[in-house]
Amino acid sequence: MKYLLLIPDGAADEPQAALNGRTPLEAAHTPAMDALAARGRVGRADHVPPSLPPGSEVACMSLLGYDPLTFFTGRAPLEAAAQGISLGPDDWAVRCNLVTIVDQDGQSVMEDFTAGHISSEEARELLTASQAGLAKDFPELAASWQFVPGVSYRNLLIHRGQPGDASPLGNELRTVPPHDLMDKPVIDAFPRGRGSRFLSEIMAASERWLAEHPVNVARRAAGQRPATHVWLWGAGKAPAMPSFADLHGVSATMITAVDLLRGLASLSGWKRREVQGATGYLDTDYAAKARAAIEELESADLVCVHVEAPDEASHQGDTAEKIAAIERIDALIVAPLVKHLQGCGDHRILICPDHPTFLSTKTHSRGGVPYVVAGSGIPADSAVAYGESAALAGPLTDPGWELMNEFLRTNVAGG
Ligand SMILES: [Zn+2]
Repeated sequence: MKYLLLIPDGAADEPQAALNGRTPLEAAHTPAMDALAARGRVGRADHVPPSLPPGSEVACMSLLGYDPLTFFTGRAPLEAAAQGISLGPDDWAVRCNLVTIVDQDGQSVMEDFTAGHISSEEARELLTASQAGLAKDFPELAASWQFVPGVSYRNLLIHRGQPGDASPLGNELRTVPPHDLMDKPVIDAFPRGRGSRFLSEIMAASERWLAEHPVNVARRAAGQRPATHVWLWGAGKAPAMPSFADLHGVSATMITAVDLLRGLASLSGWKRREVQGATGYLDTDYAAKARAAIEELESADLVCVHVEAPDEASHQGDTAEKIAAIERIDALIVAPLVKHLQGCGDHRILICPDHPTFLSTKTHSRGGVPYVVAGSGIPADSAVAYGESAALAGPLTDPGWELMNEFLRTNVAGG
């Protein structure tokens, strides 16, 4: 049996007045997905437990079949895994954004959580300066805390612990993602919980470390946003995820342009296939992803294609772009892969977004997402199109992480 999992990130949404009460998935012209619905089953799954943030880090873990309540430890450890940084049992990873915080009417306000999409090279220099600042201002801590450059504004702070040492951060530590603070005051958004004072002190001190750095001087002179601070969030230890092959006896390959998914793939023992032209944005090369998936299906039992574009369009509040992204996924990924798999013998296809991303709020939401599953051994239900309305009439998988089990088991329950 060959399995294809397609994750159109954030594709689920609400009915839109501008679309005559249809959702973007329903309004989009998606003949390939609708054909799957007609010969398969449409239902709902909820991938975000109430106690966890409604993001891809939690929802995609669930989609891969891992209970987030058991395995989710934070976002930064997933990104560390994506970068090939392995964490020991006493280590912590903390996400470290370079951000632009400005003074507005006497308040410190998050102007840009990307520091003007600062280049990786500039970020690297600023993190070197931050490491020097740490050594100077916190000499007793500098040896065990390391700023690790990543891509652009997305960097990490890694703690290397020693067995028997007290953990510097608590599991109950709460932090605020900087993208949730856009144009808002940051004063109440500093970390809370054990270890939060140290993290807050670093964030505050980074203003001094970075203010007159030549990178920032040059950016200001060029009319670009300076990186005024490091913003620390998403802290966690390495999650202890059992390998997917051990759990299911199925080998799997991940195709994505997003680090969280790369990290999840690494931690669950999946192969990662990088695709030239896969950007993680609206302009991603959809057809290249489909070609890569077809190649990977030669050797892997299961291939996951993750496409970030619908989520990006939703964050921009752009209805037309969201529909266009869904239509490109249908025409350039679903259609060719269905055609290919039909020549491959037994196979199953599951399409499921991770979480809804509402055009109305431009952000992730909680609640069920529609899925369609079709292929060998899966009886048709009454659905004739893929979308939220059809899904409401189908079964609900909650907790959503059980959907992977249903997908892989031979006897899928009828709708
Ligand atoms: Zn997502």
